[in-house]
Amino acid sequence: MIDKIVLDIKNLSVSYGDVEAVSNISLQVKEGQIVTVIGPNGAGKTTMLSAVMGLLSSKGVVNFEGVAYLSPDVEEMVAQGMNLVPEKRELFSEMSIEDNLILGAFQRHRMGRRDSAKTMDEVFALFPRLKERRNQMAGTLSGGERQMLAVGRALMAKPKLLMLDEPSLGLAPLIVREIFRIIVELKRRGVSILLVEQNARAALQVADYAYVLETGELKIEGPASELADDPRIIAAYLGLGGKHQDKLAG
Ligand code: ATP
Repeated sequence: MIDKIVLDIKNLSVSYGDVEAVSNISLQVKEGQIVTVIGPNGAGKTTMLSAVMGLLSSKGVVNFEGVAYLSPDVEEMVAQGMNLVPEKRELFSEMSIEDNLILGAFQRHRMGRRDSAKTMDEVFALFPRLKERRNQMAGTLSGGERQMLAVGRALMAKPKLLMLDEPSLGLAPLIVREIFRIIVELKRRGVSILLVEQNARAALQVADYAYVLETGELKIEGPASELADDPRIIAAYLGLGGKHQDKLAG
């Protein structure tokens, strides 16, 4: 059986003025997979996600659900079932948890799908902490709760592909574990996931397939379990002395 490919990025390049931040990247996410892109600060991870989503202009082709987009448009990508949880979470801090979630279903609602109450129950089942605090202002939440809300809001759109930009950033280890447990649970429920992370150890544990991005280029790829055993990855990203900022040789 041939696995269905949800996202197929071909030769994607993104420049800021004269500086190319993402160079000729090609990657795939198959249906029901967690695919991770690991790499140090400034490697181009956020830039890549922004271009795929249509928030930045790019060169190359983004194939999503069998449709090729030469210049993706963010509204269209959301309508087609792509959703991004940005690194900065971008919540409405003066609004309650519940209202932030309702906004996540806005486009679905506009397309006539009036099932947000049921979806919200599903999100609350996944994140009981959000349910307990449903009337609390988003701006008063802890870092972990904000991340849960950002993921919950994305889920309100019932995405086929969820793209997560460094969900572990700034969170305590116990909360990171909780967030990654939820990522695995989402996969179990059939959501395909593109996970961008500096926390290579956590990402490689949950992912099916992994890519290493450094200075805008994909350097290594393979099944996540193989990369976790690769001496180059261990030395640069996983070893005792491995700091995230270290790079692969060369
Ligand atoms: P981080 O984990 O720090 O967010 P990243 O891998 O997501 O890193 P990007 O944020 O995509 O990396 O940045 C890639 C490169 O593009 C960096 O050299 C950065 O300085 C540059 N860059 C990012 N945003 C802009 C911008 N708006 N204008 C100019 N250069 C930018």
